[in-house]
Amino acid sequence: MAGGWTRDGAVQDQIDACVEDAVKLARSRLSDGDGLTHCEECETVIPDARRKAISGVRLCVSCQSELEEQQTTLTGFNRRGNKDSQLR
Ligand SMILES: [Zn+2]
Repeated sequence: MAGGWTRDGAVQDQIDACVEDAVKLARSRLSDGDGLTHCEECETVIPDARRKAISGVRLCVSCQSELEEQQTTLTGFNRRGNKDSQLR
């Protein structure tokens, strides 16, 4: 955007995108005990160790961390130190 000003809707768009990602992240962490064998995003095989460590896992390590990095960028939270990143 090269306009030099921000349209009124831009901030709300950002919030919406953030909420959407938060929902996606929450879904990716649902502990229904029935994780996927393949990543929901990229269809990479999810290793057994990861599936055992995180019940209901739906994303591979790289998609999960990508999602969490997006969260970090969008929300300003530092999520490092959670158990997912320790699996890397
Ligand atoms: Zn993936």
